Amino acid sequence: MTSERSVYLDHAATTPIDPAVLAAMVAQLEAGAANPSSIHRAGRQALAALDRAREAVATVLGATPREIIFTASGSESDNLALKGIVRALRRAGRGAHLVVSAIEHHAVLHAAAALEREGCSVTTVPVDHDGLVDPAAVAAALRDDTLLVSVMLANNEIGTIQPIAEIAAHCRARGVLMHSDAVQAVGAVPINVDALGVDALTIAAHKFHGPPGIGALYVRRGTPLEPLVDGGGQERRRRAGTEPVAAAVGMALALQLAEQRREATAAHCRLLRDQLITGLLERIPDSWLNGHATRRLPNNVNLGFAAIEGESMLLLLDQAGIAASSGAACSAGSLEASHVLLALGLDERRALGSLRLSVGRSTSADDVQYVLARVPPIVARLRSFG
Ligand SMILES: *Cc1c(COP(=O)(O)O)cnc(C)c1O
Repeated sequence: MTSERSVYLDHAATTPIDPAVLAAMVAQLEAGAANPSSIHRAGRQALAALDRAREAVATVLGATPREIIFTASGSESDNLALKGIVRALRRAGRGAHLVVSAIEHHAVLHAAAALEREGCSVTTVPVDHDGLVDPAAVAAALRDDTLLVSVMLANNEIGTIQPIAEIAAHCRARGVLMHSDAVQAVGAVPINVDALGVDALTIAAHKFHGPPGIGALYVRRGTPLEPLVDGGGQERRRRAGTEPVAAAVGMALALQLAEQRREATAAHCRLLRDQLITGLLERIPDSWLNGHATRRLPNNVNLGFAAIEGESMLLLLDQAGIAASSGAACSAGSLEASHVLLALGLDERRALGSLRLSVGRSTSADDVQYVLARVPPIVARLRSFG
């Protein structure tokens, strides 16, 4: 079945690459083969390009270049932050406890579970009905043997923006390190590692119009870190493997562009987001907004519809040319309710009836009108089957 339009509203899952980023990457790849570790001229040129990319990433985040580790993904950065820091500190006999929020990405939750299997203990701090973490609850969870706290800056499913600076201040007062997964926040929320007060921070290029296959982890100077990947001495011995120079160049440019355009993009997205939220809530009975109404990403819409199964809705939306998600993409295909929506206090049935629409730079007012026209009859149709 073909549809009149094709509307991409899944920017929280991944974003289209910026043409300028693609051009910069192609130019880097066409410059010829060179390993940045090689001594010859081509190798030195590759290293120089890698250094410039690292410097650009560091500058945007308010860090120094040596505090930036290139990885392959947001998931790898999250894993390196949790396992790398906790294992290094444990080895030094500094404790074995970590604290995470209930709505972290699986990359954080499953890394924490892996550490639990190694003998660590994990405290999961709940969120309120709006999906907000209470800094006082994090402070109350801190123990003398707490090594690390990991709370995301912005949630990928419901867009909730957390009070990271406040949480980090509690951690610092207790001498506990703090990591934040900022993958969704780039280009939407100002990110400065000192203003946030974090010791480690995760980003992933494909979430801000950069290439897939590269992420970065900021790690504050002096923070102990055990590598996940052993081998050569790349990334200051914190992550072995020949560096993907073109991808790093692409990520650096995408990050600079995301920061330059942050306010304009946010204003554009916020308008469309709010039109979608009010428009759909008005047109669809027994519907509600998941996540805080204002302390949320400018591009995130997450609605619940009673008596609907989100996955079947996605198929009908797809037939109408609308690319959306019912939660985290990694849980799509399985009928498991989202851990994020359950953490808000939704029961299993209501948690299964959710729809995430994430708008972006290229989303238009016409796209919004199309969605407002197409989604209500689809919900009605599904309900008539039930
Ligand atoms: C997408 C995402 C990740 C994982 O990043 P990948 O690059 O897909 O591994 C982690 N955390 C959040 C909040 C995300 O949105």
